[in-house]
Formats: sequence, structure tokens, C-alpha cells
Amino acid sequence: MNTKELQNEIKRLKSSLDVTVVAHFYQKDEVFEMADFSGDSLQLAKIASKDKNPYLVFCGVAFMGESVKVLDPKKRVFMPKAACCSMAKMIDVDFFNKNVKILEELGITKDDFIPITYINSSAAVKAAVGELGGYVCTSSNAKKIIKKALDEDKKIFFVPDHCLGQNVARDMGLKSAVIGKDEPNDIKDAKIICYNGFCSVHQLFEPKDIEFYRKKYPGILVATHPECKPEVCEMSDFVGSTSQLIKYIKDLPLEQKVVVGTEFNMVNRLREKNTYILSSTKPECPTMNETTLIDLYNTLKSIENKEYKNEIFVDDNTIKWAKVALDRMMEIS
Ligand code: SF4
Repeated sequence: MNTKELQNEIKRLKSSLDVTVVAHFYQKDEVFEMADFSGDSLQLAKIASKDKNPYLVFCGVAFMGESVKVLDPKKRVFMPKAACCSMAKMIDVDFFNKNVKILEELGITKDDFIPITYINSSAAVKAAVGELGGYVCTSSNAKKIIKKALDEDKKIFFVPDHCLGQNVARDMGLKSAVIGKDEPNDIKDAKIICYNGFCSVHQLFEPKDIEFYRKKYPGILVATHPECKPEVCEMSDFVGSTSQLIKYIKDLPLEQKVVVGTEFNMVNRLREKNTYILSSTKPECPTMNETTLIDLYNTLKSIENKEYKNEIFVDDNTIKWAKVALDRMMEIS
């Protein structure tokens, strides 16, 4: 089947099944067009957990489907490709515990910090955070969640993205440090202590890219995602989550040039407004791009045939504690 035929078959399957298809903004266009709802991780987690259909097909990366399963364990969640976000892959429960031990060796005990995990982590890591009284956050609400956690007058142990943790810390005028990168005394002094993880896609943006665009297009604005390096965000005119970036760009006058530092598929859809891509390479997320139309078709077809392929399962204990951390975030945001 060619693309058009596949898309028509997918539409037919969707209309005959009690299914909702959602797609993250970073999905390829032909997959993105098939979604009933699209959004960033927070928007999709909210939409998907409230949706009434018994079957949900999530086009995104594995932690996103897991999050919906945790928020609504009765729902049957399927992922055409449960691809693993490279950042989420940088931490598991063992690494989380090893870092907690490093903090303890520095005299920072579990009573001295609140753990916060970026939503880009496995359900198991979210559960470990939930068991220690912590929160999940997204790039849209990270500042709000950190602010709330700081009410307890403790340090924050932020995993896995050190860039997001450090960018929020700078924005709030707080001292941050990264385990494994900074000196022990810096870690002891920091209010936000970060795990040393990062997004391999957003790492592609460099200060020299910003210098290049500013020199070439005087008056251009620079908008970046907080998964970019702290030195890149510090040079930007605007820093925001995926949905915040979209709003920022859509609200600009048409003649205003803006260079955007985030994933290519999403930025490419905004191009009607003189938008330039920041970076000399095309910053596509390889794991988001793993989901193809044929994967989506096969998943829907397996639901129709009652074979139920590519279903997401999370064990009960993980659901219990990961839900605690996710619910704490949902209450605040
Ligand atoms: Fe993960 Fe980065 Fe891809 Fe987002 S862009 S899914 S953080 S690898």
C-alpha cells in the first residue's frame, strides 16, 4: 500500500474500533496527520487519561505510553513502536539509587531532598521517585513543580535531565550542580542537584549556532527548548516547552524571523512563518521517527483481529508508586 492507501485504511480502522490515536508533536508528518489528538507530553497524558475509549494508541516514545497506563491502569494502551527516548534510557532504578548513595556519602540524606523526575523517564524510575515522596514534572510545569517542592525547605534531586534542572535553577536564581561533573562542595551548596542525563537531540544546539544566525539575520529572535544546554538557553530570547514554543512563535508578527532550537519535525510544521532551524544539522529525534504509518496500521489491525500486539504493560507495584508521583504533578498543573 502507498501512503495514501495506508492512511485511508487507518481512517477506516479508527472509525470501526473504539480507539483513540494520539501523537506527540515530534512524530513524522504522515503519522501526525492520523492522530485524533496531538500535543506535548503533558497535554497528551491529560487527554489520554481522560479519554473514554477503551483502547488508546500512542504514537510517541515508550515512557509516554507507560505514563498513560499508570494514570489509567484499566485502559488498554498500545504503541506502534515503543521506542526508547535516549534521555529516559540514561537512568534506571539502579543508577537512581547509586546517585542517592553518592548524595548520602556527601552528607545529604533522603530527608534532606525531594526527588523530581522529568516525565522522560521509565515508570520504574517514576515509582522510585514516588516512594521517596517526590514528583514528576514536564518541561511545561518544571518551574511550578520545583517551586512547590521547595516549600518543604529541602534540596531538589532532579533526574534525569541536568539541562532542564539547571535552566530552571538559573531562571529561579538558585544554585545548581551536576553529580559526576561538579565538585563535591558545589553539590553540597546547590539547591538543585541534577543527575547527569541529557537529550541527545537538543545537545546538538551550540552557542555558535546562535551567533551565526544573529550575525546573518540581524533582529532575528532565538527560541529554545529547556532541554538545550544552559549556555544556549542563557543566550536565547525565549525558552519554553514544546507547546510554549508553538504559542510564542504563533503570536509573533509574520515578518518577525525566529530561529528555533528544538526537534525538526515540529519546527518544520511551523515554517509558514519565516522560521529558521537552529543548527547546521536537521535535529530530528531518531526514536520519535521510528514510528511509521505501517506500524500504526499493524497495531490497529491487531486490535481489529483481537491479537492485541504492541500493548504496554506495567506491573501493579510500579503503577502504585509511579501514580503517586504523577498524581502529585497533576494536582499542581
Ligand atoms: Fe527523548 Fe530528546 Fe527525543 Fe525528546 S527529543 S524523545 S528527550 S531523545
